[in-house]
Amino acid sequence: MEYGSDEYRAFLTERREALLESIQGAAARSGRDASQITLLAVSKTVGNEAVLSAYRAGYRVFGENRPQELKKKVAYVRQVKEMEDVRFDMIGNLQKNKINQVLGNAHLVQSVSSVHLAEAISRRAVAQGKSVRCLLEVNVSGELSKSGVPVSQARLAMDALMGMEGIEPMGLMTMAPANDASAARATFSGLRDLRDDLKEITGLELGVLSCGMSGDYQIAVEEGSTLVRLGRIVFDPAYKSV
Ligand SMILES: *Cc1c(COP(=O)(O)O)cnc(C)c1O
Repeated sequence: MEYGSDEYRAFLTERREALLESIQGAAARSGRDASQITLLAVSKTVGNEAVLSAYRAGYRVFGENRPQELKKKVAYVRQVKEMEDVRFDMIGNLQKNKINQVLGNAHLVQSVSSVHLAEAISRRAVAQGKSVRCLLEVNVSGELSKSGVPVSQARLAMDALMGMEGIEPMGLMTMAPANDASAARATFSGLRDLRDDLKEITGLELGVLSCGMSGDYQIAVEEGSTLVRLGRIVFDPAYKSV
C-alpha cells in the first residue's frame, strides 16, 4: 500500500474511527468524557506524504522523537496551506545541543526528563524571548531502560520547573513496560496519583497526562490518560488489534 494512495487514506480514516471508538469505550468504562482525550499520531516512522494523508483522515496532533525530524516535518506542514491547524509535539529523548531545533517548532515538549534539561531549555527560551510548554517525564515503572525522573524526585523536579523562566509545566508523561498489562496499569495509575499529589502541592493545573501507546492505550485511558501517543496502530496496516 502506498502512503499517498486512496487505499492508504481509506485505511487511515477507518483505523482512526475504530481508535476513537475504542478510546470512547475505555473512557466510558471509567466514567470519563472522551472529549478530554487527545489522540496524538506518532509519525516518526513515516514521511511527509503519510502525514498529509493522516491529516486528511482527521489527525491534527502529531509527535516526533527526533529533533531534526520534528523540525523537518514542521517545515513541511508550514508550507502546506490546508495544514495550518496542525501541531507537533516532541516526545523523544532530547539532547541539550538539539534544543534550538525544537524551540518554536514543538507545541509541547513532552520529554523533559531531568531538571538539567529543563534548565537548558529555560536558558534558550529566555534568550529567544519564548515560553515553552513542557511535560515532566517520570520513570514510574522504575525500569533502568526508561528515561525520566524517579517518582521519589518528581516533587523536587516540579518545584524546580515551576521556578524557571520560560518553562510552562503542563503535566506529566510516562512510558509503561511493554507487553505486561498489569505493570502498564500500575504505571498509569501511579502517574495519575503522582499528578494528583503534585497538583495539590504546587497549585498547578497539570492537566496533561501523556501515557498509552499502541499496545496499552485502552488501559491508559481507563487510568486517566488525557493524551495517548499512537504510532504503529495509526500508520501500519499490518498492526491488527484495535
Ligand atoms: C514510538 C513512540 C510511541 C508510539 O509507539 P507505538 O507502540 O508505535 O504506538 C509513543 N511514545 C514514544 C515516546 C515513542 O517513542
